[in-house]
Amino acid sequence: MNLILLGGPGAGKGTQAKKLIDLYHIPQVSTGDILRAAVKEGTEMGRKAKEFMDAGKLVPDEVVIGIIKDRLAQADAKKGFILDGFPRTVPQAEALDKVLAGLGTKIDHVVSIDVDEEALVTRLTGRRTCKNAACGQMFHVKFTPPKKAGICDKCGGELYQRDDDNETTVRNRLATYNQATAPLIGYYTQKGLVRPIKGVGSIDDIFNQIVGILAAPKCSCGA
Ligand SMILES: [Zn+2]
Repeated sequence: MNLILLGGPGAGKGTQAKKLIDLYHIPQVSTGDILRAAVKEGTEMGRKAKEFMDAGKLVPDEVVIGIIKDRLAQADAKKGFILDGFPRTVPQAEALDKVLAGLGTKIDHVVSIDVDEEALVTRLTGRRTCKNAACGQMFHVKFTPPKKAGICDKCGGELYQRDDDNETTVRNRLATYNQATAPLIGYYTQKGLVRPIKGVGSIDDIFNQIVGILAAPKCSCGA
């Protein structure tokens, strides 16, 4: 089973990926990880990537795709894989399709864990952290409130809200993600591969939704 995993900020993509690996025994292929591995191993593509990285430049698509091709051709990816962080653009998705066709395979599902925006805003904006660095205890004004508002239960320190947990920042991050992902979702929707998952509920609720969709029989028309 060949999967692409997409997930908005706060959707718990990493956690779900780990659970999918354990269940299906397929490797997670994360661009950053395999890029670093290729550089370390000194493969041809790894050496090319290193030239760009040493120059402080972005590694171009053709090199990233070469590295992904090498990775997906390895024995442990024959049974399937979970692509994480790639593709990010439609040209990358097209190049990936070509690479997979060359390997005699294709993407089966594009799992998109969609964040419930209001739930995420509630979750993040309610977080409070103890100012006492040695303590650092976290609270949530709604879910795990301190006994006395604004004061740490553990050490009596003052509680504060991190800058990146304010509502404007959270909504901006979501908007940026949705804008960047929309063309990719469009590309895979046309191919009938997108499996939208509502990122609501517990980690297990979301995981069960994913597994249910992946296990659903496909119609004989191939859709
Ligand atoms: Zn404290």
